[in-house]
Amino acid sequence: MLKIGYHISVAGGISLAFDRAEGLGCGCMQVFVSNPRGWEIKKLDERDAGSFRSKRKSTGIEPIAHMPYLPNLASPKEDVYAKSKEALAGTLERCNLLGIRYLVMHLGSHLGEGTERGRERVADAINEAAGRRGDVTMLLENEAGQRNSVGSMLEELTAIHGMVDGKGVGFCLDTCHVFAAGYDIRRRDVAKEVADTLGADRILCLHLNDAKYPLGSRLDRHADIGFGHIGRKGFETFFRATGLADKPMIMETPLVETPKDARGELQAVRKMLNDALG
Ligand SMILES: [Zn+2]
Ligand SMILES: [Zn+2]
Repeated sequence: MLKIGYHISVAGGISLAFDRAEGLGCGCMQVFVSNPRGWEIKKLDERDAGSFRSKRKSTGIEPIAHMPYLPNLASPKEDVYAKSKEALAGTLERCNLLGIRYLVMHLGSHLGEGTERGRERVADAINEAAGRRGDVTMLLENEAGQRNSVGSMLEELTAIHGMVDGKGVGFCLDTCHVFAAGYDIRRRDVAKEVADTLGADRILCLHLNDAKYPLGSRLDRHADIGFGHIGRKGFETFFRATGLADKPMIMETPLVETPKDARGELQAVRKMLNDALG
């Protein structure tokens, strides 16, 4: 059974995300567990958390968390770096309270200090957080390759993984980002190489997004599935070549803004994958 879902709003209470996800036909969903645009992690409402855990059981929908936007684990600035590590620890704690297994995280920006230095910062931060991770696995997300970002080249991701091995770390592969970074996953050989480089068993979640701009654009702009430069055929080839369709897949496509269309997109993607893999 394919597990496909969307990034879902937690407006009004985190447990409400399950109702929204269920309405869209999701088998998994991604949420922010604190304000995505703030540093502060407010105290979790006990009733809301209890409701989150019970809805998880009753709906069978797998929740995945995404780190907020402000933390930068590669930052050369001490104050930002310290706050970012605190935010990571706080988010991990929150995931444990909610019973969330996976936390997707960006590796941040080295702000011009160089990728090697950035890599060390990220690895140190993860190693420090590992003692407090509980049951949560941290998933390093590949980036589109924006200026100074860490983690758009797959070798960078595997290098960081090597520095934190055995600490409960895996990968979240974003199809739009990898394509924007220059990997033509519409081609069988490249798709396979991407999966092999990261390791299919270490890729624990996919961000299933089409790309608004052409191969190698380095632009992080998502398109609806089948309507971007990866395209329907590109996705079919990618999944046939990699066998990654057994992973939870989270769409962060523009259609999520219109629930009726989002539901249709999810059904279409499910059918596309079933046809391609059947
Ligand atoms: Zn992300
Ligand atoms: Zn993106």
